[in-house]
Amino acid sequence: MAATVMELYGSKVFNEHEMRERLPSSTYKSLKATIEKGQPLDLDVANVVASVMKRWAIELGATHYTHWFQPLTGITSEKHDGFVAPQHDGTAIMEFSGKELIKGEPDASSFPSGGLRATAEARGYTAWDPTSYAFVKDDVLCIPTAFCSYTGEALDKKTPLLRSMKAISDQARRVLHLFGKDVDQVHTTVGPEQEYFLIRKEDYEKRLDIVLTGRTLFGSAPSKGQELEEHYFGVIRPVVSDFMKELDEELWKLGIPAKTKHNEVAPSQHELAPIFDTANVAIDHNLLTMELMKKIAARHGLVCLLHEKPFEGVNGSGKHNNWSLSTDGENLLDPGDTPMQNLQFMVFLSAVIKAVDEYADLLRTSVATPGNDHRLGANEAPPAIISIFVGEELEAVIDAICSDSPYAGPVKMKMDLGVDVLPKFSKDTTDRNRTSPFAFTGNKFEFRMPGSTENLSDANFILNTAVAKELRDFCSETEDAADFECAAAAWVKKTLNEHRRVIFNGNGYSEAWEIEAERRGLPNRKCTPDAMVALKDPKNIKLMEEFGVLTRTEMLSRYEVEMEHYSKVLNIEARTMLKIANKQLIPAVTAYMDDVAGTAATKMAVNESLSTRAEQKLLTKLSQYADEMSDGVDELQKVADEVSAMTDETAKAHAYHDVVIPAMEKLRASADAAEEICREDYWPLPCYSRLLYYT
Ligand code: ADP
Ligand code: MG
Repeated sequence: MAATVMELYGSKVFNEHEMRERLPSSTYKSLKATIEKGQPLDLDVANVVASVMKRWAIELGATHYTHWFQPLTGITSEKHDGFVAPQHDGTAIMEFSGKELIKGEPDASSFPSGGLRATAEARGYTAWDPTSYAFVKDDVLCIPTAFCSYTGEALDKKTPLLRSMKAISDQARRVLHLFGKDVDQVHTTVGPEQEYFLIRKEDYEKRLDIVLTGRTLFGSAPSKGQELEEHYFGVIRPVVSDFMKELDEELWKLGIPAKTKHNEVAPSQHELAPIFDTANVAIDHNLLTMELMKKIAARHGLVCLLHEKPFEGVNGSGKHNNWSLSTDGENLLDPGDTPMQNLQFMVFLSAVIKAVDEYADLLRTSVATPGNDHRLGANEAPPAIISIFVGEELEAVIDAICSDSPYAGPVKMKMDLGVDVLPKFSKDTTDRNRTSPFAFTGNKFEFRMPGSTENLSDANFILNTAVAKELRDFCSETEDAADFECAAAAWVKKTLNEHRRVIFNGNGYSEAWEIEAERRGLPNRKCTPDAMVALKDPKNIKLMEEFGVLTRTEMLSRYEVEMEHYSKVLNIEARTMLKIANKQLIPAVTAYMDDVAGTAATKMAVNESLSTRAEQKLLTKLSQYADEMSDGVDELQKVADEVSAMTDETAKAHAYHDVVIPAMEKLRASADAAEEICREDYWPLPCYSRLLYYT
């Protein structure tokens, strides 16, 4: 009989339950103190934990262990070490020490560091993040870790996230203390909704562009797009349903709370949403989810595309970052029922609004990737301008607070600074504004700009740190006040007045908004190279340094890594286009022309009076497109060579954007035109209809 969900769930995780069952109680207590209060783990305790963890992993068939980490490439890395230790007598034992659990030393020289670490001193180490459970995957015990250089610089995505979670927790606790509540910790919670495409493996293998770059670099639009809107929440096709079922089971085994699954707007596009969790755990889980999606798709003859924009003219894939703050029992972004709860809520809400307004440029960097550049601002994803949607009811509250006027919500009342007149309002029930990049959805914020491949650590460490700063400022302005409630309400009013320009409830996709946003002075950085400069902005460096999240050097190194990454991706895309055009597309058109010309010649030979008009018309067009493609290839080759030889990373990334991308678009346009009229069996690339409608 198949195992039940309850039996499966968490069966491959060294979770709380396993720890309690298996560890001696004193060890368990020390480990819990480390997990919950961040106390350092003593080596004796680590030795016991390691040995128990090893035994548990071996029972599940594990033969190796790995420190599982997230270098700046964004994906996860692992290097497997065997437990096996040969003995003098020819036998072997299985070894795993506390030291090996706590710290690993992968050769760090091949991971991007933005010049932080010269290759000669390529040493870096990984350190266990005991707040994220170890798990067994493919017979390997995986230990979630952070990755640092020996001089202490963060070389990964997780370290700043963990630091930022501590920063926001400290400041939120101070705020709660002022409200008369003392808590140990405030957690950042994250629920990432993951979009993806599934296509057939046999089609994938015929498309070098998807294989090498994750997206189609060529392809004319299908005659049926997503205009019928029949796919969203539509019946899930059997092969996809089988895939989803297996995926759910594998995720549940890893303790990943996969909850909802459905078809998305575009044909072949789907979504998976888990139940939210503490930020670092949710992000570890999201990375595992992406890995498993790819792996399990292959077992069903499918390929999972996580690229932000695999198909031109068809919706791309995003990853919504649902975010909130909570104590062990209270969601701090829940408006609550009493005026006092309302005031506390308004403080946290205002802090988020201020943070997003002041650090919009920095937040923008967290979602800037070459792939996501195709999404943001296109007609399907939020624009590159960051604004906040709060809904009508909350906006009315904000209006009332800002103008000292009566609140025009369901319950009329006079508003002034006194806390007992802050209105009570219900959870937002209005239609959620899908066009907003940053929407308040009742008791959490949903950041909708991240692309589907994103490691959400970046978005969250920036958000956490910026909000931590606003909470700190709130504390310093109100903690010595004679009347705290009055001072808090005054801070809310001042903050909302100063930062409400970032609130926008209208249609974020409209051109009018772009103009209005410019009038309001909101940044609109349209492409990755433009966005990344915010990593070098003194205001942003100061923020990160003040809270010990990243140093100036670390920020600058991240800028280098991101700009370099942008150029590398574009270089690969340009080269792949050239290969495909030269070796596949131009020869296809030439061969077809030969065929058509042959037909015309044969007809003439049979009877000179037979018309060859159709052949001639076709040949004229084919020949024109072939010429255009050939010219396009020359041009792209030339600019790609020039730009790739540039040495200044900033100038280079901009040149890829300004010069190489237009050349790529030009080549694509002529190839797509040729595809439209080329006989199907001559065209070597599976067409969009095939990719999108055959799973
Ligand atoms: P939808 O947006 O589709 O209506 P929900 O609002 O229920 O769905 O949730 C979307 C995502 O937000 C889910 O992953 C959910 O777990 C997550 N989420 C819900 N509450 C919170 C919270 N307090 N903090 C972080 N994420 C949350
Ligand atoms: Mg959503």
